[in-house]
Amino acid sequence: MADPKGFLNETRELPGKRPVEVRVNDWKELYEPMAEEKTIKQASRCMDCGVPFCHSECPLGNIIPEFNDAVYQQDWQVAWEILSETNNFPEFTGRICPAPCEAACVLGINQPAVTIEHIEKSIAEEAFARGYARPNPPSNRTGKKVAVVGSGPAGLAAAAQLNKAGHNVTVYERNTRIGGLLRYGIPDFKMEKHIIDRRVELMEAEGISFEVNADVGGNVDAKQLVRNNDAVVLAGGSTIPRDLKLPGRELDGVHFAMEFLDQNNKRVAGDDLTSFKQIHAEGRDVVVIGGGDTGADCVGTSNRHGAKSVTQIELMWKPGAVAGPDTWPNWPMILRTSTSHEEGCEREWAVLTEKFLGDEEGKLRAIQTVNIRWGKDASGRNTFVKIEGSEREIPCQLLLIAAGFLHPQQEGLLDKLSVGLDARGNVAANPEHNYQTSVPKVFAAGDMRRGQSLVVWAISEGRECARSVDAFLSEDGTSLLESKDGGQLALQV
Ligand SMILES: Cc1cc2nc3c(=O)[nH]c(=O)nc-3n(C[C@H](O)[C@H](O)[C@H](O)COP(=O)(O)OP(=O)(O)OC[C@H]3O[C@@H](n4cnc5c(N)ncnc54)[C@H](O)[C@@H]3O)c2cc1C
Ligand code: SF4
Repeated sequence: MADPKGFLNETRELPGKRPVEVRVNDWKELYEPMAEEKTIKQASRCMDCGVPFCHSECPLGNIIPEFNDAVYQQDWQVAWEILSETNNFPEFTGRICPAPCEAACVLGINQPAVTIEHIEKSIAEEAFARGYARPNPPSNRTGKKVAVVGSGPAGLAAAAQLNKAGHNVTVYERNTRIGGLLRYGIPDFKMEKHIIDRRVELMEAEGISFEVNADVGGNVDAKQLVRNNDAVVLAGGSTIPRDLKLPGRELDGVHFAMEFLDQNNKRVAGDDLTSFKQIHAEGRDVVVIGGGDTGADCVGTSNRHGAKSVTQIELMWKPGAVAGPDTWPNWPMILRTSTSHEEGCEREWAVLTEKFLGDEEGKLRAIQTVNIRWGKDASGRNTFVKIEGSEREIPCQLLLIAAGFLHPQQEGLLDKLSVGLDARGNVAANPEHNYQTSVPKVFAAGDMRRGQSLVVWAISEGRECARSVDAFLSEDGTSLLESKDGGQLALQV
């Protein structure tokens, strides 16, 4: 364990953030580096709690007390080895994971939790800086071929694990660059894209092939891909956004959040956008509908564009600022203020949008809203009533819909393969059935299977799915790849 008295001597400290007035002028990550000694002190706060709930709340089963101890002992190489056992990409999760582990930290019951996510990022960055993160190709090849469709965190994790097991892996990505939403959804100020490039270079050096501009079910024949490979992993994400089909939806200036974020990430990467209709917030009153991560990313991006005003509205009620006493070790439903909100944003809750209002040229000029009051109906379900007299117009020339995602795109890949879907329209492939879809030798992982989720879940699914694929490809139906639950996997055929 780390220092037995560390939590008594040190308090929680995170790296500083660059000042708002500086960081809104660029797209660089907003956290400043933290001195190594300070991170070691943070690791010392991990106490010998006996049952580390952090470990079970991490979807990857990261072995947190052990890597904290290694950091405390200043043994960054051992810390890296422990972390790499369960997480293929700690440099991603160390930056953008919401850290359910920290909500479950035992120290967090009556003191600020251990800074697990920051320590994870520090281990990854030290490993790259010191040369511990290097290509580690498998010593033997099985001769089996696996195609992974989609290069988001789920596809990348599946590819890394299957390659480690000795299979020949090719990742097919329809976009021009690798990374999925890591690349095109999450803005650079949360994670600069050279972090993905650095990882992809390592994976290539380990023997994984990447095909970009390869739309399986479009310019790449889906059935032929299945025929030509011993197994296929579908990791295409959940890409169909929930729409707000209100009067005025067709007005110029109403967009899905991902149209805005995808285009901006391409702009920041220096891509040629001349064939795109430019969506830019400069000088505009921006309203973001939806209070999640995607909405917050729209806020930060709009501020960097130089928006005149940014307002984020949410249909649900405002959550409380502190967690209830019975919440631990679960994820608390509390008011969260992201770094993007700190940069300037009006936030409103319990607001229903009724109409988008345009001018005579068909351009959005405002939205019409009404405030609502939440309560319970006779059967105890949440319901709301409109508050009479609260109708108003909010000036708005750019409206971004960040109301979540419904399911994966069915046209193309899924239609062509006739893959079975679940009731929500996601690919049906239960973990209990080893991530196998209704189509023989085709598996699925990540948002395409579980619906819109988190990077840490995508990595976890990619790893677990890879284990099932490896067992499927092996002669005795078992896999030696690690699992978050431990033990060897025997396929039930
Ligand atoms: C704006 C935004 C911000 C987010 N911020 C966070 C955050 O801060 N932290 C967090 O944990 N999570 C965040 N998330 C959620 C997280 O990004 C996703 O849960 C995660 O990326 C899902 O990974 P995935 O690999 O399943 O799918 P994706 O990342 O969506 O990747 C799927 C890939 O498959 C490709 N593809 C699809 N169909 C085909 C095909 N037919 N042929 C070839 N390629 C195909 C797509 O082009 C894409 O590259 C955010 C999501 C969004 C939208
Ligand atoms: S991946 Fe997320 S949940 Fe797991 S240890 Fe890291 S920050 Fe915590």
